[in-house]
Amino acid sequence: MFSALTRTNVLQLRSLLHRCQSTLVVAEHENGKLTAITLNAITAATKVGGEVSCLVAGTDCSTVAEQISKVQGVKKILVAQHDCYKGLLPEELTPLILASQSQFNFTHICAGASAFGKNLLPRVAAKLDVAAISDIIEVKSQDTFVRTIYAGNALETVKSSDSVKVFTVRGTSFEPAPTEGGSAASEQVTPPPPVGVSQWIEQNVTKSDRPELTSAKVVVSGGRGLKSGDNFKLLYDLADTMNAAVGASRAAVDAGYVPNDLQVGQTGKIVAPELYIAVGISGAIQHLAGMKDSKTIVAINKDPEAPIFQVADYGLVADLFKAVPEMTAALKK
Ligand code: FAD
Repeated sequence: MFSALTRTNVLQLRSLLHRCQSTLVVAEHENGKLTAITLNAITAATKVGGEVSCLVAGTDCSTVAEQISKVQGVKKILVAQHDCYKGLLPEELTPLILASQSQFNFTHICAGASAFGKNLLPRVAAKLDVAAISDIIEVKSQDTFVRTIYAGNALETVKSSDSVKVFTVRGTSFEPAPTEGGSAASEQVTPPPPVGVSQWIEQNVTKSDRPELTSAKVVVSGGRGLKSGDNFKLLYDLADTMNAAVGASRAAVDAGYVPNDLQVGQTGKIVAPELYIAVGISGAIQHLAGMKDSKTIVAINKDPEAPIFQVADYGLVADLFKAVPEMTAALKK
């Protein structure tokens, strides 16, 4: 009897704890459009349990707030509109998050592990005097998270005893929250006075007709084996037959074959497409850190000993200058 009661109590306590959790997801958006990684962060927040709120700050937030109101799993949207939020500078957003935190006492604060989240949340964590947990790939419980270390080659489970858990979420590790079917209520928050230490001037974003590297379903990446920037045309031709994005190894970027926003890997972008085709890439651990979660990996390399073949689902030992044009021609048929 005693042990049964205890077990019931434990279960009740656990469910109570679950309900007491509340997570704030800081929404990232560009030109009135919610970024995909915010949807991944919302899914991570729902795994914590309890209520999920989203903070939308900006100069004109109506479209983004409207989009988030339909996202499944979000209960409440906090909207903060002010000219000082132009460019979403961490210097201005931090006091806003701190003000929201004093008002609502969230147990968790999170954002996507993008440049935006990685600029912002360590600052917020420092101001709250708690640790920032970066790049999590799994929420095990309210206080326990898994993240990757050693260039993605090891997993680390961390348990936080901080009063507020502040973390960024690796987008490729969580499904995006469904964008239809939700019915979150919006609430205006009064922005704290602007800090004014920095001002957003402009942003130059590379324009491309191809899909964005981190959200493309197919990625064709080239390495030093391509031998020149001009030869990347072979990959662009192949990519265009499949509506694929083009990526590159750091060696190809460092050699000036392609711009560095194409770099995949530990110090580049993390991708997890349905199909990743690595062409003339040896498969260094720092490159694998950015693509090994891809659903299917195809490698084309003339060296049968190249480490990339260890992670590839399909490997083609061949000269890329012969194999790639043949593949493009076959796909065009
Ligand atoms: P290589 O290693 O030179 O491989 C070229 C491959 O092309 C070879 O396997 C060769 O067999 C093949 N090849 C050559 N000619 C042909 C042909 N005609 N047909 C078919 N195959 C051919 N790297 C990243 O990619 N991303 C990162 O983010 C990254 N971050 C790093 C961070 C740190 C701190 C450090 C130290 C390194 C980092 N690197 C990163 C670099 C990484 O260690 C490797 O040097 C790099 O990935 C190698 O690029 P690669 O495979 O294109 O070149």
